[in-house]
Amino acid sequence: MLFRRKYSDQTGEDPAELHDRLEQAESMGEAYRRSLQVLVALLKAYILDHPEIDSDAFKVEVDRFARQLAASGSPKLLQACTMKASPGIEAFGEKQKSYLQERETELRKIIDILSEAMAATDSENRTYHQTIFAQSERIEQISRLEDIRKVKSALEEAVEGLRTTVQAKQASERLRVDQLAEQVTVLNDELQKAREASLRDALTGIYNRKAFDEHLAHLLERQLIRPAPFALLMLDIDDFKTVNDTYGHPMGDRVLLAVAQACADMFRADDFIARYGGEEFAILLPSASLRQAAKTAKRVVRSIAQTRFALREVPEPPTMSLTVSIGVSALRRDDTPESFVTRADEALYAAKRAGKNRVSAA
Ligand code: GH3
Ligand code: MG
Ligand code: MG
Repeated sequence: MLFRRKYSDQTGEDPAELHDRLEQAESMGEAYRRSLQVLVALLKAYILDHPEIDSDAFKVEVDRFARQLAASGSPKLLQACTMKASPGIEAFGEKQKSYLQERETELRKIIDILSEAMAATDSENRTYHQTIFAQSERIEQISRLEDIRKVKSALEEAVEGLRTTVQAKQASERLRVDQLAEQVTVLNDELQKAREASLRDALTGIYNRKAFDEHLAHLLERQLIRPAPFALLMLDIDDFKTVNDTYGHPMGDRVLLAVAQACADMFRADDFIARYGGEEFAILLPSASLRQAAKTAKRVVRSIAQTRFALREVPEPPTMSLTVSIGVSALRRDDTPESFVTRADEALYAAKRAGKNRVSAA
């Protein structure tokens, strides 16, 4: 009361009014201080956590500033401490901004490399190429965006787009690979069938001359690794020309088929029977010596001579008989396919000369 009276006495102002103004000024100062504290708290919340820009050191500075604000009892002190802190805050803001710009530039470079690499994986496929480039253009636009949050969400969208494109491409390629694999399987089957057919004689269904030559070459190669005895029978139908002349060519064909079937029945599963030419058959007997092969050949000659061949496909048909001659050779150490076959051939002609329906071994 004393102070109010004395003061008012000097200035001539109303003490009550002065008191109100003082209170107002004090609460204003307090409001500024609180506002500054809120701003400092917000500033701290928006600091990026990165060692490269010394975020931790800056946070320590901000905390010190906050403490000074809380302790500043007068507006003057408040202002002084704000002015002191502001250059540091501004410097950190600039540092943070240029850090973000650098990251953005790097991000853009990575995206460029990725987009080009993905597009380059299949430069033949134009649609795929165009889609990937359209995506990279979007990414290009994204990297120009100012706001880092927009960059993030737009980038996620673009990456999703790229992923969908690549997945669609992978799915279509898988389909294409499956289709190709199926085609390859079909072609392989056909190739196998064609190869099998190329080794068969069309009339009799047994192996042909080509198959015989291949098989003999293979057996001789194996001899080099593991020598084992084997023999060759050259079987020729006797006077076959007469069969054709007497009963006609189609009947001759039927007889050829019947002889081939008889041979197939008489020989073992691992014997190799082929039609060597016209009415001549070649039979390779693995593990057979010359003597064993000659014995087998004699059995065949006898059996064919005893067989009655049906002339027509009717019950109890008229029949005919025929004979065969066989030349036999056994493999020798220095044999070539030619020498091995020639010896059997010569033996065959010896059997013919000796009166046919017989076996000759060389
Ligand atoms: P040889 O006892 O000396 O062997 O006398 P051959 O008559 O059997 O022998 P030749 O070589 O004189 O005649 C073979 C005949 O075989 C002549 C040919 O028309 C006939 N021939 C060859 N291939 C076929 C065929 O696929 N079908 C028919 N029907 N006949 C064939
Ligand atoms: Mg003949
Ligand atoms: Mg002949």
